[in-house]
Amino acid sequence: MAEIRIIRCPGCGGQITLLPSKVFRYLCPHCKGIVILSRRHLTLSYVLGFILSLIIAKALQLSVMAAPLWIPIFVLSFIVVAQLTALVISPYEVYRYDAPPPGVIARNLGMFLAIWLGIVFTIMTYGYVLGWAAYLIGSHRDLIESMDMWSVPLGFVNPEFVVRPHKGLVEVIGIVSANSYFWALGLMLVFKFVHSRMRRNRVTELAISGTTVGEEDDGL
Ligand SMILES: [Zn+2]
Repeated sequence: MAEIRIIRCPGCGGQITLLPSKVFRYLCPHCKGIVILSRRHLTLSYVLGFILSLIIAKALQLSVMAAPLWIPIFVLSFIVVAQLTALVISPYEVYRYDAPPPGVIARNLGMFLAIWLGIVFTIMTYGYVLGWAAYLIGSHRDLIESMDMWSVPLGFVNPEFVVRPHKGLVEVIGIVSANSYFWALGLMLVFKFVHSRMRRNRVTELAISGTTVGEEDDGL
């Protein structure tokens, strides 16, 4: 039995019948607006869901070794939070063709956050696999050595920022996130530097070939 739901169009308030579909994109029959999932609602739900999952992980005293258990906790937290925030913010919005593209600052911030989260996620996954491998083989020295790598740079300044197996999952996520912040910042600066050099070369080439440079708004 297919599940049919009815939502209100955030544009005109008319009713839209939702048919089960993997892609969330509906045409409002009343105002012809395209209704999509609200980015604001999704972002808020992710952030609050993430915080809630950390609180639960802390309350359960999850250890680093139990890291995968955090994933279902996060998924559940996200679902619960998304339902609750839907009462305050509409989970849908009307897609606008003429919406202004994100500015330079918004784009750079988005890129920085993506790099930062990517590093944290990679380290946690890699650390988990390596942690268990070292645990099974029984080589604790390798384990400690790999953990030292993730404790840079803040571990130099404050021993609280050194990752150790006995520390809790939430604590380690915090340490890794704090350290990754600096890694992400460094990576971002390198990327921006290379990118600007490449652009400069391209602009020079175009100038030599006599073509006018088109509108480019890739700022630093
Ligand atoms: Zn509508």
